[in-house]
Order: sequence, then structure tokens, then C-alpha cells
Amino acid sequence: MITAHLPAGYILGQRLDRPERWVFAAALLGAVFPDFDFTFYVFVDHGRIHHHRYWVHIPFFWAIFGAVALPLVWRTGARWPALAFLAAVFLHLLLDTLVGDIMWGAPVSTRLMSFFDVPPTYDFWLWSFIFHWSFMVEIAIWLAALLLWRRAGT
Ligand SMILES: [Zn+2]
Repeated sequence: MITAHLPAGYILGQRLDRPERWVFAAALLGAVFPDFDFTFYVFVDHGRIHHHRYWVHIPFFWAIFGAVALPLVWRTGARWPALAFLAAVFLHLLLDTLVGDIMWGAPVSTRLMSFFDVPPTYDFWLWSFIFHWSFMVEIAIWLAALLLWRRAGT
């Protein structure tokens, strides 16, 4: 997924509909957080390793993180923001799995998995993704978020 993580986080944050402070912000942050690794991918790693192989794109890491962090914050005011953040991270990984590759089997397997493949029909990889049918899913997420935003009036 290229463009729709933030609106997906918006939808999640709205649908959680929790009154606690920071829940909505945590959903937005979690929805985009794994892709912060792209700066490392470009400026430090210079594209040598697919950024979906970094720890922030590995579901097992977040499962362990959640198993450790959630009990620590469960009886505090951070419970719902932490849950929203983790839910948004897993939503990110699920959406990336549509046509991107995620290591759902790690640490047992390093195989990258996706629901569908995008064939390299253009010289520049981005055009192949934008002109693939799966980009309609991104547009649908944007439209759903915009509709929700208009209804919410926020
Ligand atoms: Zn991602």
C-alpha cells in the first residue's frame, strides 16, 4: 500500500470511537509508523534490503511488543491509546500484504507473503503499482475516509 495508510488509520480511529485522550492520534500514528523505516531504507541502507524486512514491518516483532507493553499499561490511561496504536500497526501490515510483501512467518520463515503480485509492467516500479487494479482499493479507502470525515465534521 502506497498512499492509503493514513486514511485507513483515520477510519480506524473514528470507528474505535473511544473518549480517551490520544486514542485517535495513536491510531493515526500507528497506521503510518512502520513506513518511517523508508527513510532508513533510502538514506542509510541505500535500498540494499527491502524495507519490509526491517523489524517495523515484521508482525512477530509487534506481537512481542504488544505482549510486553500491553500488560504494563493495562491499568493506566495509556491502555486504549496503546491498543489503538497496535491495532493500527497491524492494519498497516495487513494492508501492505495486499500487494506488498510482509514476513508473516517470521521468525520461522523469512519468506515475504502477499495476497497478490503486481507485475512490473512499467520501467518505474511506482507506475506498475498505480496502474494495477489494487490501487482502486487505495482510492476506496481514501473515499471512505473522506466520507467519514465529512460526516464527522472534524
Ligand atoms: Zn508499510
